[in-house]
Amino acid sequence: MRSQPVTTPLDRNVDRPISVAELFTIGIGPSSSHTVGPMRAAFDFAQRTLGQGARPQRVTCDLYGSLALTGRGHATDTATILGLAGWEPERLDPDAATGILAGIRERRQLPLAGSHDIAFTETDIVFHPRQFLPEHPNGMTFTATFADGSVHGETYFSIGGGAILRKGAPAAATNVAVRYPFTSGADLLTIGDASGLSIADMVRANEEAWRAPAETDAFLDAVRVAMSACIDRGIAQEGILPGGLKVRRRAHAIAQGLTGDVPGSNPAEVFEWVSLWALAVNEENAAGGRVVTAPTNGAAGVLPAVLRFYETLVAKDVSVEARGEGARTFLLTAAAIGMLYKKRASISAAEMGCQGEVGVACSMAAGALAAVLGGSNRQIENAAEIGMEHNLGLTCDPIGGLVQIPCIERNTMGAVKAINAAYLALRGDGSHIVSLDAVIETMRQTGEDMRSQYKETSLGGLAVNVVEC
Ligand code: SF4
Repeated sequence: MRSQPVTTPLDRNVDRPISVAELFTIGIGPSSSHTVGPMRAAFDFAQRTLGQGARPQRVTCDLYGSLALTGRGHATDTATILGLAGWEPERLDPDAATGILAGIRERRQLPLAGSHDIAFTETDIVFHPRQFLPEHPNGMTFTATFADGSVHGETYFSIGGGAILRKGAPAAATNVAVRYPFTSGADLLTIGDASGLSIADMVRANEEAWRAPAETDAFLDAVRVAMSACIDRGIAQEGILPGGLKVRRRAHAIAQGLTGDVPGSNPAEVFEWVSLWALAVNEENAAGGRVVTAPTNGAAGVLPAVLRFYETLVAKDVSVEARGEGARTFLLTAAAIGMLYKKRASISAAEMGCQGEVGVACSMAAGALAAVLGGSNRQIENAAEIGMEHNLGLTCDPIGGLVQIPCIERNTMGAVKAINAAYLALRGDGSHIVSLDAVIETMRQTGEDMRSQYKETSLGGLAVNVVEC
């Protein structure tokens, strides 16, 4: 254990095929790495412990590094308790979480994996803000204590986008045989040239390694519906966001102030609509609502906002079926780009700063929009590159450790920037100087050079220059 963070790449395996279902997961806010990941880790530990027939009397959890520094604002502690109690982000009704937690606190007992009561108090979650585990800035250790005094511990890492790794677990399988394996943007272009396929077509074919095409379509449609529902729910809500910063939700008031019911009826307001959609999602995320990690929760508003832009403005006159197919193409293309960042760098803000979250989402959305606007593979690659190039160096410095300032507004910037990147790329022929691979590598190097104060620790930037009231 050490006092200074390092960013050793734990899961950087460029050859491991990644599915769209790994990039887009439906979970709860406010953070994929600090809420969704810890809940999954706690769930896994509880299931594995009971599954081995063990019946502990107590379970404690030690949170390290970024998880400890911003864990309270990111609800890491409550997510861990819920995970130990047998809840997963996909199944938990966000509206029920408060009641479940109140019951555990009141009884001072936690139903481990939902079935085995153990004594539990809030102090069983221990924050270690000055200690970073050597493998990753987001580390957590669970310890089960038994009646005979023996203990069993496991360490997990939340590596971004809600994904977790258990220390000592066998490496993820790399033997999934996809039809068009790719590890770089250059691969995508080469395969496209040889096969005549679009980037979305390649990913769609690859997904057959995991499930039938109809199931992939159903999954993509469910993601689209969840993104859209999140926008609509966010617009309907008013009031103050939780956490103590007293941040007022703005989406509802902005929606009331826009002229006309139809986005685009006033051309001057187009970007205001886009910003509204992104705001709505990220206000829902900050409130602990249901969101799609795309590729993370903090950056969850960018892709839905740009997808809604496509559906309501670009594709407003096409058939419902064509619009639905366009949305699938949008998500498949975005996923291909997200896979490259996950393979070659990281989507964890604790490793890369916000360039790895909102920057990546912007890059994904830019390429996806270029695809549904009819762009060639080279124009898509160009759009994705532009989307990241102008987010390089973006730090993560959330005030109060909450995913609110600068996060909520930042998603509006990511969405607007993505649209601009797509149209810029479509004005060219796809040839450009900085490749997507070069910009991903630049992001990785910049992230590794970035001081830890700016990587989801709330020890620098806005987090120390704005007084919380
Ligand atoms: S600043 Fe960016 S990376 Fe950091 S918590 Fe907010 S959205 Fe996530």
